[in-house]
Amino acid sequence: MRKKRKIITAILALIIIGIFYIFENYPITDTGNNLNQRVEEAPVTSENTLEVTFLDVGQADSILLESAGHYMLVDAGNNEDGPKLTTYFQQQNITSFDYVIGTHPHEDHIGGLDDIIHNFDIQTFYMPDVITTTKTFEDVLDALEEKNISLSIPNKNDKFELGDATVKVLYVGNEEESDLNDTSIVLKVTYQNVSFLLTGDASTKVEGDLDRKELESTVLKVGHHGSSTATDEEFLNIVNPTYAVISVGKNNQYEHPHTTVINTLAAHNITTYRTDEDGTIQMITDGTNIEINTLNTDTNG
Ligand SMILES: [Zn+2]
Repeated sequence: MRKKRKIITAILALIIIGIFYIFENYPITDTGNNLNQRVEEAPVTSENTLEVTFLDVGQADSILLESAGHYMLVDAGNNEDGPKLTTYFQQQNITSFDYVIGTHPHEDHIGGLDDIIHNFDIQTFYMPDVITTTKTFEDVLDALEEKNISLSIPNKNDKFELGDATVKVLYVGNEEESDLNDTSIVLKVTYQNVSFLLTGDASTKVEGDLDRKELESTVLKVGHHGSSTATDEEFLNIVNPTYAVISVGKNNQYEHPHTTVINTLAAHNITTYRTDEDGTIQMITDGTNIEINTLNTDTNG
């Protein structure tokens, strides 16, 4: 009898382990369970890190990434942010970027890029396959020409290293998109167990087209400054982030972030940081733990 019970217990244990295994390997479920909880918010002491800084550039985006002394910049805020970002990066002793990416040609993403191009060495400069006739876009093209840097268009599924981290291009839009926001380059940056999903201003249309298997991420840079055109429930279920970051200006005219997005994030128990409230948000990870610092740069508090 005792032997039989042991066998039953063993079988039950195997079934439970099996279920856990399936959940670990197939995390795309509609359960809403937060499988990223294994990433602890804790001080990071290791020398080997990925550092992701969501800079407070008001109603705009600018994200600085660093690993093992290699830098990548994703967007550079509005036109007036260019000199401010230049000064800030120089203060950080940054002289060159391995990658500079303009997610899409709207001013609140590429506005400051001409200053960055003029003041730093850039190995690779990426933008989506679309051109516009705005002065802002032409300033970027002129700066690239002056510095003899070519504008490259990445391909979907391109992968490259940034120090110890890996960057994968999940989506690149082209001129066929009717909405310029939907040309946004979408990136996933992974360092061991921790990953960041950066979607520019892409809408739910693009979110729905992304490869579901690639999406689960520890941190989601909420699309389009928290606009209701992005970040629907289905997308959040798949990404299943522990943390969200909204890059948004105080009292902006678009009323971003939208209440529905804020409510959906809250309903999923996602810890959300906002540049309009927290200032610049810095996330440092050793691949297991994540340390989050908010640097309130806005004097209005
Ligand atoms: Zn934008």
